[in-house]
Amino acid sequence: MIHGEIHQNVRQYINGRWETSATTGVSANPSDTSEVVAEYARADRRQAEAAIRAATEAFPHWSHSTPQRRADVLDRIGAELIARKDELGLLLAREEGKTLPEAVAETARAGQVFKFFAGEALRGGAGAGGGENLASVRAGVQVDVTREPVGVVGLITPWNAPFVIPAWKIAPALAHGNSVVFKPAELVPACGGALAEIISRAGLPAGAFNLVMGSGREVGQALVDSALVDALSFTGSTANGERVLQAAATRRAKVQLETGGKNALVVLADADLDRAVDCAVQGAYFSAGQRCTASSRLIVEAAVHDAFVAKLRQRLKTLKIGHALERGIDIGPVANEERLAMNLAWVEIAREEGAEHVWGGEALERSTPGHYMSPALFLAKPSHRIAREEIFGPLASVLRADDYDEALALCNDTPFGLCAGICTNSLKHAMHFRRHAVVGMTMVNLPTAGVDFHVPFGGRKGSGYGPREQGRHAAEFYTTVKTGYMLA
Ligand code: NDP
Repeated sequence: MIHGEIHQNVRQYINGRWETSATTGVSANPSDTSEVVAEYARADRRQAEAAIRAATEAFPHWSHSTPQRRADVLDRIGAELIARKDELGLLLAREEGKTLPEAVAETARAGQVFKFFAGEALRGGAGAGGGENLASVRAGVQVDVTREPVGVVGLITPWNAPFVIPAWKIAPALAHGNSVVFKPAELVPACGGALAEIISRAGLPAGAFNLVMGSGREVGQALVDSALVDALSFTGSTANGERVLQAAATRRAKVQLETGGKNALVVLADADLDRAVDCAVQGAYFSAGQRCTASSRLIVEAAVHDAFVAKLRQRLKTLKIGHALERGIDIGPVANEERLAMNLAWVEIAREEGAEHVWGGEALERSTPGHYMSPALFLAKPSHRIAREEIFGPLASVLRADDYDEALALCNDTPFGLCAGICTNSLKHAMHFRRHAVVGMTMVNLPTAGVDFHVPFGGRKGSGYGPREQGRHAAEFYTTVKTGYMLA
């Protein structure tokens, strides 16, 4: 029996003050639904608009702050996240359900993101002198190209990585001098609140950072609709991303989307099969498959298909599914009752479509009431819905390919394009795959899930829109370019 911690009380953080709201909600532990993790104030449209006004008023001050001040603020946030990674990781595991080691690692990575962008503020963020000086085509004229902050940015994030996804939006936004209104997913208010509490003590002027916790339909939509919000960065489902994109385009706001994925892991006949199975297990099932980078399509060359499936099945049998805080657990519960029901419905769809069941896909009971299920594996055809649509749960399908060319074609036969992996010992095929997989990120002999924090993250086709997140490339979204001419 694992004892719960005292629950959190989360409020809105608007214009440097903590505020209650007219209504409240609770988040429950998906490993033990009898445990309340947070009670939180539910913001309404009026509070969202107050936060947007506060961010608008803070913008002139924050956008002209020195790079050193911005770097110091971000460094403090990053240092605290890293120093408190065990305690905050525990909170994350309790609220979202990923295993404790995964949750601690995510918290530390969120800290590293803030520290990276502390450096970016100094290295060449907006106002830090990272532009270009050029000779004009006209005699006696000087030209320079500089970057400036965009303005007020609305950041809307999902529940599956409640520290690191907000970090990779909030940190570059602040580093480049923008003011922020942050709307986390309602499923994870304790994580959103804990992050905001750390940011509130980091030395920002009132209004430069605001937290509004409430429903996407009301609070998220208020950010999307407001003429005062200059840029919107959204991570979530493809359907909601489309809505954000259309509304933002109508009022000419800058927009960046990170949406769904249906990522492939290709396994060629010359691959180290143990490594390939390891990549498949990590990529498809860890974090209960609730990662946009999950490899839910395993495309296997015919010569090793049966051997790969047999080895993978053996591994799946040994995985331990249970309470996220229990030692030695491989996979925690899925995030909530609705997701469990959706995953089980996908298992039914797979059976009805005629996909061959290999393993798992059942609801499990444990000593605490939680949303547990066994990892599911099916042999599918490319036309099956389980091989085409994003599931966002611990369900993967294996597709058979006659050779590398067919495997690559299957890999690209999807409306999504976030990432793709290949397991092979052929340099020729690895290099060809890196060049020809139509995605934003490729992995060779590595799981598709698990990326670095200092390089671009994002996808193509239905998986994303606008400039990439993370690393130096984040400046493309969080800054705007100004060209200056001067008679020398
Ligand atoms: P949702 O689209 O349901 O929610 C994402 C965020 O958008 C939440 O904060 C939600 O608020 C908010 N939202 C909902 N409706 C609106 C609206 N009308 N206007 C503005 N905001 C709104 O996605 P999930 O939270 O269910 O996350 C899972 C999805 O996210 C998966 O499809 C996954 O692929 C994708 N994802 C993509 C990643 C990537 O980088 N490509 C990374 C992680 C996840 P609330 O829920 O509080 O109502």
